[in-house]
Amino acid sequence: MTAPELKPCPFCGGDAEIWRAHEGRTAWVACMGRCAVLVSKEYTTDAEAIAAWNTRADTATRNAAIVAAADEVEKEIAQAKTLMPMVVPILRGVHRNILALIAKGAADDRA
Ligand SMILES: [Zn+2]
Repeated sequence: MTAPELKPCPFCGGDAEIWRAHEGRTAWVACMGRCAVLVSKEYTTDAEAIAAWNTRADTATRNAAIVAAADEVEKEIAQAKTLMPMVVPILRGVHRNILALIAKGAADDRA
């Protein structure tokens, strides 16, 4: 069986590698790029370590997209203040919901 491919580091974009304490025993994944981050737990199999790493990469990508969306809504609020002030409260509500998603994502990452 071929091991699933490791995604690039979610923080610096560097290549990742699987590391093993002993062949067939514990494994973890580390960034070989600038930041040298690693999954914070050792796994029994390579597949488990790779799955954990790749999930983290997906989460970081999702969180970056949510932060970018919040920035866009902030810009739209600034424009709407002069052009369409009546929609500002609606946009502020959207912005609040996006910020709540960011806070939830940060809490999930710490779990
Ligand atoms: Zn990195």
